[in-house]
Amino acid sequence: MVPHNDIGAAAQALREGKLVAFPTETVYGLGADATNGEAVARVYAAKGRPSFNPLIAHVPDATAAFALGDFSAEAKALAKAFWPGPLSLVVPRKENCPVSLLASAGLDSIAIRVPSHPMALDLLKATARPVVAPSANPSGKISPTTADHVRRHLKDKVAMVLDGGRCKVGVESTVVSFLEDGPKLLRHGGTPRPEIEKVLGHAIAVEAHSARPHAPGQLLSHYAPHAELRLNAEAPRAGEAYLGFGPLHAHGPWTLSATGDLVEAAASLFGLLHEIDSTGVARIAVAPIPHHGLGEAINDRLLRAAAPRDAT
Ligand code: AMP
Ligand code: MG
Repeated sequence: MVPHNDIGAAAQALREGKLVAFPTETVYGLGADATNGEAVARVYAAKGRPSFNPLIAHVPDATAAFALGDFSAEAKALAKAFWPGPLSLVVPRKENCPVSLLASAGLDSIAIRVPSHPMALDLLKATARPVVAPSANPSGKISPTTADHVRRHLKDKVAMVLDGGRCKVGVESTVVSFLEDGPKLLRHGGTPRPEIEKVLGHAIAVEAHSARPHAPGQLLSHYAPHAELRLNAEAPRAGEAYLGFGPLHAHGPWTLSATGDLVEAAASLFGLLHEIDSTGVARIAVAPIPHHGLGEAINDRLLRAAAPRDAT
């Protein structure tokens, strides 16, 4: 039993970029160092998710949270009232936020939570880095509330499964965003809406699609570059920047992975799109990406980024 619950070893594994499943009061989380893009990419790969949705960064206290994002007075009030606990707050990323852009799915916002399970808190303190931790189940399976559930499906994908017994809450955290347009409830979960409204002193808009975790593709906002994208391009045309996959060659300085590694490609996807976009180029041609493993999620994201925009 002892090796399973060696918090020091689990923290070390996370810091080395490995995946560690651990209990929270909501459900078991599939943890990875949020500041390590490749570790975050391995989370999507382990879950077999066909698309990248933004993940929640877990931290041991509000001070660590305030270092990652810009919290308004109202967001701080909710943090004070409900942390540690089953409430995730979506706020603008701080400019120097160390969390991988992949964890934010390329958005300039970040979801943050302080869980209340003592083992989760011990692990987060020992790791001393923000940890992404979506539910530790393969995509499409129900969320795990015991260590056994996790072992059944993900045992060979993780370095370690910490066993903290059955999760008390058993449903995911409530997600509330504080972006330009005021507070919005994005997902129903372990912290009831009326309690949140009591603290705020007013009702909040609900933009949740369902009480259950959303299906891939349901996310309302997603990252799109200013430049137009042309996909499956073997080479750039005049006036296009080129985002390659594989060794760098005559088509410019950007490749998702020089070695053709899909984990590295996923980790660098949003960062490179931002970087190329910031040059002000009007069109980006993107190399064909193999459609297996993480390639499916990469292609899903590229397709959406390439979709025609509303004229307004
Ligand atoms: P999970 O990590 O599986 O518990 O799910 C994370 C939830 O938080 C999903 O419902 C996401 O859509 C939501 N979420 C995380 N980050 C953001 C963000 N930056 N903007 C909007 N929703 C977010
Ligand atoms: Mg889930």
